Amino acid sequence: MNFEQTTNRTLKDCRVLIVDDQESSLLIMETLLKDITRCHTAMSADEAFVYCQLQQPDLVISDVNMPGTSGHELSQKLRANSDTDHIPVIFVTASSEDEEQERCWAAGGVDFVTKPIHATTFRNRVKFQLTHKLKSDLLETLIYTDRLTGTYNRHYLDERLPNIVKDVERDKQCLSIAIFDIDFFKQYNDEYGHPAGDKCLWLLANTVQKSLMRPMDHLVRIGGEEFLILLPNTDRAGAQVVCQRLLETIYSLNIKHNNADLGRVTVSIGHAIFTPGGHESIEQVISRADQLLYQAKAQGRNCYVCSS
Ligand code: GH3
Ligand code: MG
Ligand code: MG
Repeated sequence: MNFEQTTNRTLKDCRVLIVDDQESSLLIMETLLKDITRCHTAMSADEAFVYCQLQQPDLVISDVNMPGTSGHELSQKLRANSDTDHIPVIFVTASSEDEEQERCWAAGGVDFVTKPIHATTFRNRVKFQLTHKLKSDLLETLIYTDRLTGTYNRHYLDERLPNIVKDVERDKQCLSIAIFDIDFFKQYNDEYGHPAGDKCLWLLANTVQKSLMRPMDHLVRIGGEEFLILLPNTDRAGAQVVCQRLLETIYSLNIKHNNADLGRVTVSIGHAIFTPGGHESIEQVISRADQLLYQAKAQGRNCYVCSS
């Protein structure tokens, strides 16, 4: 979601996932909420978890007792995954006993309602949670977004990287890091002026953003004209495809640059891989990608260098 989309959202734009194994319960809750927000339904916790990973709803309202995975287990699974740990869960429970309440809080719930559902209370609790979610999303966007390009900023990287690393370690997958830097950008500013330099940065970042195929791939502006791309679950061959496509995409933008070797704006890229259980920490991998970027500069620019 881009900066404008996040800042202009209202309750009507939110998405709520209602989870219950009984169709009649789903229907009651959906009917109570449909004039407030957009509702989707799932009849099991497993179906709900898949939906959350793919669609990132703003709120989950889940029954506690369901055949197979329970509502509590669903909430714990959501909390343990960095793609879904920000999705709040309201439990719907048949029991209001102390122990049951304790279990809802311990499972990471933000609230609970008891059956039979009191319509006004239910609607207001959902409205309250969604309003809170909109505010915290807005705050997060403001904190983590680079205002010039709309990409993630360095603060995002510092805060989120440990969780992204945890995810790839758990899944025993590698995490590719590509760092790219615009070639001869000082001369670009000198020749065309700083505002034109800003426009060039914006166009480049937005073009690269659109060229990333997977929702888990993230573009981060880590310095003036230096960007880092996080590519979870991507091996060396996959990252090479991304690097090559990046070079070609930027080259074919054909942004005029009289003082560059090729007469147009290009970038140089360094790439390194973090492997769970390997000998390098994520910080060491990032610093190696940075060194390889300088090797790409030395090799003539408009190219990428991958770690062996
Ligand atoms: P190289 O090919 O080796 O990367 O050379 P370079 O000129 O790109 O690198 P250098 O690090 O010498 O210069 C980076 C320039 O990027 C300096 C600065 O003018 C420009 N720059 C950094 N941030 C911004 C920005 O936000 N807007 C604009 N317009 N220019 C910026
Ligand atoms: Mg540069
Ligand atoms: Mg630089």
